[in-house]
Amino acid sequence: MLVLVLNCGSSSVKFQLIQTSPEAIEAGTEKKLARGNIEKIGMTTAIVSFQAEGKPPVKETPVILEHRVAIERVLTLLTDPQVGILKSRNEIGAVGHRVVHGGEKFSKSQVITEEVYRQIVECCELAPLHNPHNVRGYEIAHELLPDVPHVAVFDTAFHQTMPEYAYIYGLPMVVYRRHGIRRYGFHGTSHRYLTWRMQKLLNKPASEFNLITCHLGNGCSITAVERGKSVDTSMGFTPLEGLIMGTRSGDLDPAVVLHIMAKEELTLHEANTMLNKHSGLIGVSGVSNDMRELVKESQKGNKAARLAIDLFCYRLKKYIAAYYGVLNGADALAFTGGIGENSPLIRSLSCAGLDCIGIQIDPERNEKLNGSEGRISPDDGKVGVYIVPTDEEMMIARDTVHAVAGKL
Ligand code: ADP
Repeated sequence: MLVLVLNCGSSSVKFQLIQTSPEAIEAGTEKKLARGNIEKIGMTTAIVSFQAEGKPPVKETPVILEHRVAIERVLTLLTDPQVGILKSRNEIGAVGHRVVHGGEKFSKSQVITEEVYRQIVECCELAPLHNPHNVRGYEIAHELLPDVPHVAVFDTAFHQTMPEYAYIYGLPMVVYRRHGIRRYGFHGTSHRYLTWRMQKLLNKPASEFNLITCHLGNGCSITAVERGKSVDTSMGFTPLEGLIMGTRSGDLDPAVVLHIMAKEELTLHEANTMLNKHSGLIGVSGVSNDMRELVKESQKGNKAARLAIDLFCYRLKKYIAAYYGVLNGADALAFTGGIGENSPLIRSLSCAGLDCIGIQIDPERNEKLNGSEGRISPDDGKVGVYIVPTDEEMMIARDTVHAVAGKL
């Protein structure tokens, strides 16, 4: 089956065309036939990048003011005789949609029926910055491809196994009951992919090991996975909680926000923007939210850049040690995301001084394996430390196939 994976953001549409089936998933023979990205939708010019297997890459800068035009462009590119890979859009067998928030309603992926659609729309209240774009993406794709199943894959679903004591905040229970204020966690599809992949690397089923997964990209989160199930994760009611990220603050004394709002006379919107867009690595360093830049600057002696790196790694180290305790010991620790996969420095700083709990990194392996999958701890290290490049799109395609077959 050919699965179109769609990830619609506020001003972007990311997509992949993946050939897969239950048998291919079993045999590990799934194939990516095309991938692309439409960014800056609604701005003066959009940026379209596209590449189908064995075809020349496409880079264009058309005016795309609306998601409908963007998704139509995706289908036109896929069926273009020169650069595309399909004869007709009818070859697409199903569409898998990334949906950020599934609230408490969804603990696994779902074929989108009228009822599921209604419930996803209800979740927009919990994720007003994300879900409306995912919903819009589905509505348009459903109109353009009405005869195939559409499946929703939720970022929150993997974390629905967290116990109550891990997801309830120390607030009056009425805010949970009335407004659903609790910890949900995000990046679930990536943490689930790592858990699946670690079964291959450790050569045993997930039910036989405990794992800590670190997804370090622009957004960052860490999850404690006990025998295949998420039992705690660092993001909370929104993706703002937990680790320090590119532009997000991560954990904070909530009184700080009230104090700054009063002192600086910030509106709700301004405070939200400060915490989500001007904090974290960019806020502390004043240099960049891009870890590559910070590493370069720090090597040149920029103290603010070095401080941002140190804060990032220290917070991560605290979480790793905490989750080691949560799990009563971990068999493995896995790094993924742009930073987790590609930065030997961040991996080594965040694990430094954790040999007390059996976490060690072999410096040579850490450098050599950078960017690819494998073990970076010494052979006799008690906790296996791994790099595992994530593949959320593949996970979405798999769930789509399984959901369509009724086997989730
Ligand atoms: P997203 O969360 O948007 O998918 P990515 O997973 O691509 O983002 O991660 C982006 C982050 O990865 C950026 O901070 C970028 O600087 C960082 N990154 C990519 N390559 C490297 C590298 N070689 N060294 C350090 N950081 C890197």
